[in-house]
Amino acid sequence: MKKIYLDNASTTAIRPEVIQEMTKVLAEDYGNPSSTHSFGRNAKSVLELSRKSIAKHLNAAAQEIIFTSCGTEANNWILRSAVKDLKVKRIVTSKIEHHAVLYTVLALQEEYGIQVDYVAIKPNGEIDTTDLVELLSQETKTLVSLMHVNNEIGTILNLDRIGIICKQHNALFHSDTVQSVGKTEIDLQKLSVDFIVASAHKFHGPKGVGFAFVRKNSGLQPLFFGGEQEKGLRAGTEAVHQIAGMAKALELSYANLESEKIYISELKSYLIHQLEIEFPTFSINGNPEGFYNILNVLLPLSEDKTAMILFHLDMKGIAVSRGSACQSGSIKASHVLAEFLSSEDLKKPSLRISISHYNTKEDIDVLVQALKTI
Ligand code: PLP
Repeated sequence: MKKIYLDNASTTAIRPEVIQEMTKVLAEDYGNPSSTHSFGRNAKSVLELSRKSIAKHLNAAAQEIIFTSCGTEANNWILRSAVKDLKVKRIVTSKIEHHAVLYTVLALQEEYGIQVDYVAIKPNGEIDTTDLVELLSQETKTLVSLMHVNNEIGTILNLDRIGIICKQHNALFHSDTVQSVGKTEIDLQKLSVDFIVASAHKFHGPKGVGFAFVRKNSGLQPLFFGGEQEKGLRAGTEAVHQIAGMAKALELSYANLESEKIYISELKSYLIHQLEIEFPTFSINGNPEGFYNILNVLLPLSEDKTAMILFHLDMKGIAVSRGSACQSGSIKASHVLAEFLSSEDLKKPSLRISISHYNTKEDIDVLVQALKTI
């Protein structure tokens, strides 16, 4: 049985060139980058070249890229230090953020008694910008945390516009860009964003490594205490092979961006077309003009199919999901869909299908045929 992977918003397959690069670094560049001898200097050079390469692709300065163990860590660090060290008294965020942001914000609210406001969500799953502007009319020192591309429904935030609004209102702006780094151009010289985060395993790199972009002179302080790594902002010996793999993955993602984007967009249109033929009354959750690799659909199937649909597809070797990876095993409704679907629709089966350049039209055909047999 050919296995079909259509869950690329959860994680992606590593590119062979990335594995090659990581294997080389593991075998040859095993020095500790903080050591001053030649082995250390060699590892340090791999580390700093990786940082430079990542910074170049995002038009940032190398010193603004801080390596972390994952996107979750980077989000936790930025939000926590903003409250603890930058004296942010209020966080404005949304109910459709990833739990790495939502649960961190709730913990900070409990620990520091900060004010938390949630921006209204429009019926198409997008942020209501008018409501954001209204919320920002308060004087309190505020950080806005809004994700770039939503991992469940693929709605896109206009980073440019939100950055300008935050600047006009003197608010700090953090964006969880885990789903968009490596999949769309991001120019950090042009954008008014203070902090963004990324995770290598979302762009065909290894798991267990990510980075934060922290704009110069932000005043952010470390989450962990220990060594002086990452200019004292993130203690702990850097995972050099992971970081080199991440830099390679990002380089390849941007080198192939245009062609892969066109290819994936075509597959997404093909999928929508096939669903229109086989399930004429299906609907798209979120804005139909959402991000090119994510499609979240509400299928015209009875409620009793909801719990077993993923299992049924899995038996046929097809991997998709119902929401974010951490939720997809549960039958609990998605916190993202709950923000704009009716309670009736929420009980019905919704599926998130997320595509990569490794997928083919045949994969889509197999998925649609499998759905017909449910
Ligand atoms: N933020 C978003 C939008 C995500 O999709 C994910 C991935 O699950 C994360 C954060 C967490 O990233 P990581 O798996 O690197 O901790």
